[in-house]
Amino acid sequence: MAGTVQLSFSADRSVATITLGGQEERAITLTPSRLQSFVEALKTVKDSGATGLVIQSPSIESFCVGADISLIQGVVDVTHGAALACEGQSAFNLLQDLPCTTVAAIGGPCVGGGCEMVLACDYRIATDSSGTSIGLPETKLGILPGFGGTYRLPRLIGLPKALDIILAGKTLRAHQALKVGLVDEVVTGDTLLTRAEAIARGTHRPKRRSPGLSERLLSNNPIGRAVVSRAASKTVRKQTKGFYPAPPKALSVTAGGLGRSRKAALEIEAEELGKLITSPESKALVHIFFLTEAAKSIGKGARKQVEGAHALVVGAGTMGAGIAGTLAKNKHQVIVKDTSLASLQRGKAHTTKELSKQRYLSSFERAAIANRIDWLQFASPTIARTTIAIEAVFEDMSLKKKIFTDLAARVGPGCILASNTSSLSISEIATSIPNPERFVGMHFFNPVEKMPLVEIIRGEKTSDDTVAQIAALSSEMGKFPIVVRDVPGFLVNRILIPYLNEAVYLLQEGYSVEHIDQAALEFGMPMGPIRLLDEVGLDVAAHVSQVMVAGYGDRMAVPDFAQRLLALDRKGRKNEKGFYTYQGKESSPWQGLQAALDLPKSPNKSLSRDEIGRRLVYHLVNEAMKCLQEGVAGPDRELAKKQIDLGTVMGIGFPPHKGGVLYYAERVGLGAIREALAVFHASYGARYTPFSM
Ligand code: NAD
Repeated sequence: MAGTVQLSFSADRSVATITLGGQEERAITLTPSRLQSFVEALKTVKDSGATGLVIQSPSIESFCVGADISLIQGVVDVTHGAALACEGQSAFNLLQDLPCTTVAAIGGPCVGGGCEMVLACDYRIATDSSGTSIGLPETKLGILPGFGGTYRLPRLIGLPKALDIILAGKTLRAHQALKVGLVDEVVTGDTLLTRAEAIARGTHRPKRRSPGLSERLLSNNPIGRAVVSRAASKTVRKQTKGFYPAPPKALSVTAGGLGRSRKAALEIEAEELGKLITSPESKALVHIFFLTEAAKSIGKGARKQVEGAHALVVGAGTMGAGIAGTLAKNKHQVIVKDTSLASLQRGKAHTTKELSKQRYLSSFERAAIANRIDWLQFASPTIARTTIAIEAVFEDMSLKKKIFTDLAARVGPGCILASNTSSLSISEIATSIPNPERFVGMHFFNPVEKMPLVEIIRGEKTSDDTVAQIAALSSEMGKFPIVVRDVPGFLVNRILIPYLNEAVYLLQEGYSVEHIDQAALEFGMPMGPIRLLDEVGLDVAAHVSQVMVAGYGDRMAVPDFAQRLLALDRKGRKNEKGFYTYQGKESSPWQGLQAALDLPKSPNKSLSRDEIGRRLVYHLVNEAMKCLQEGVAGPDRELAKKQIDLGTVMGIGFPPHKGGVLYYAERVGLGAIREALAVFHASYGARYTPFSM
């Protein structure tokens, strides 16, 4: 039955099996009703005299994804949060205390509360499928493992490895889990259950990896634990910059728990979970989790259509090579076509290097991925088989139009044609082909391998089916799609540019590069706006600026600092000279900036970093609200809000613990922000024209 567990016994009644749900359930979550029926089943097993228990899932492709996240979202009371933790803890204590041999048979994701459940078993075996993953991602939702995970994991694999998983919210593939001792054996899917039963019967004992001497020393005595905690605390501070309370709390609970009895350790775990689950950071991170779920569902209906798609990527440069590698990794046959042999060679080398960084892949898997890509300098008849073509050549309208006219004649009528342009009009490029309904913008971000967002730009004539297929392909590539209208800058750059422009205005007023960038960092942005301009490249920034002024007029105008620096051969990070000067990994603001741009020595007013932060960030809110009101994302307002929040977090780096730009604005108060914008408008002019309420 859905939502409950099923208990069965072997013919001789010596081995019990708990199946965590019904066949019809795709993902098993630990709802209160399932936990309750799990407890009932454990009590029956205890009384039955069975000598072994196997815990399995109805599907070998999904074991248990942990607590129901909408439940986490709904907890607003600390005691309620702690009580929920206690329910899970006592269920898993019962499991741990069973007098029989307990074995978890894991196939597919086994994460969060699911992982905490299997930690309470005597043995864990997992399938070698690429879909099997085991871990504790709780800190990514702003909480800590609250069903005994902080207590059991360090006891099983030692404190250093446990912290590595818990603090970063990691999930491991089966072989990685075996290596650290989180599972005892990795088997093929078809032998999982027989192997689990053999262990439960006592006819097979897996060889167990126990923590080594140094791990035991670092885990089992207070001095060792203090050493590990100090090092972990330093890493946590560096990574969270003080914005995320969950990792430091998880550190103290996990390390502290090792010196305590189960009862005492679990009490503290539950208490701290109660505090974290109600924190604003956790609520914001849970909000983002749901945004990603909504994004994944956009192309759901077209998944089958893009399965096994034959892809063509035109252009083997920075973006083309990244797109091709990501497609091949997701099992697509890819042809990359470029007119330059040097680009093809660089593209291929880039793909090989990126694959070598993926340490979880075997050399066989890496070779198989690389072999899926054909790098071509000249047109080949194989191009006719293409079902999705993505163009990533220079940002030049006439070149792109020429390429698509040519492509449309070579590929079949059902082939989707997509451009990775970052600033050209999709509807305009579409005029170059006879069937514009199959044409769409597919805007990846750089570097493609790392950036999780894809902006899908719907041209005037793009069909729903084309959008759905590109959304499905994006999800298949492990990206989160947002669908936006064909406006200058699309959604992400349109929201970002006024913020970057403001940083340039602040420079013009005499504020220092450090002061401006630091203000953004203190708000939680991953890098300051001036540094971001250098990273984007001042040539690209100058070009995008022209597009924005042409599209929106003076409110997008900016002092011509980028052009003036370009005239001095300062292009930004790419030639190690921009607003900053770079030397390897080191960088410092360019000392000649003030003289080169005739900047005042100091500003007339002395704004605090907090005020500067508001002048920058309120631009993001203002433009996001304008996009919302103009229907740039959508189709309906609720989905548009989600897409804007996701776009700002994943495309701009808006701090995840603030939940996205509109989520943040609603918490500050849209009215208050609008009033502040009106004050800025009075002082600084058109660029601050506030959104209408
Ligand atoms: P790039 O200069 O690195 O690569 C462009 C490639 O296109 C070169 O290898 C070039 O040889 C090839 N090319 C030129 N004419 C061709 C033709 N007729 N047929 C086949 N290949 C041809 O450029 P990039 O940075 O990869 O950008 C490509 C596109 O992606 C642009 O439209 C750009 O606006 C967009 N984009 C770039 C970024 C970025 O950060 N680099 C981010 C998002 C989108």
